[in-house]
Amino acid sequence: MELIQSFSVDHTRIIPGIFLSREDHVGNDMVTTYDIRLKKPNREPVIDVAAMHSLEHIIATFLRNDPDWKDEVIYWGPMGCLTGFYLILKGNRAPGEIYDLMLAAFKSVEDAEVIPGATAVNCGHYLMHNLGMAKWYAAEFADYLEKNADNPAIFEYPKTERLITDDGQQFFDS
Ligand SMILES: [Zn+2]
Repeated sequence: MELIQSFSVDHTRIIPGIFLSREDHVGNDMVTTYDIRLKKPNREPVIDVAAMHSLEHIIATFLRNDPDWKDEVIYWGPMGCLTGFYLILKGNRAPGEIYDLMLAAFKSVEDAEVIPGATAVNCGHYLMHNLGMAKWYAAEFADYLEKNADNPAIFEYPKTERLITDDGQQFFDS
């Protein structure tokens, strides 16, 4: 079944939050990709790249060790635009259903004393980390999530028509 969505996200109106990016069939199962957006695209500074790298390590480790979620997690990684992360989970949950998980994940960063896997053996650029800044961004986003828990706009993207390139291709960024 083709599931190419006819809409795209209007990046000029995005606010931080937990959003559905895409839903895919894999065999008989569903796999859901979420955008975990920490920054307003093009309207505020992006996440420092070293802090982003540390958040990738710390939160991936948190998710893959959580007894309730570790078997559901397929992927956690940074967006190329440095405004947030991609989370891919088995199943087909609404963004609100992973609110508690994301809040716990970002709150866990505050307690991190080391960056897991930040060694030459385990990481492709192990010197490019910043634990202090990672904690700052994580605390900022956790606080935002708590203040906006009842705001439906943090769970639903503003939509626009999908961009068609000059040679007729549909544009995708993931
Ligand atoms: Zn790394």
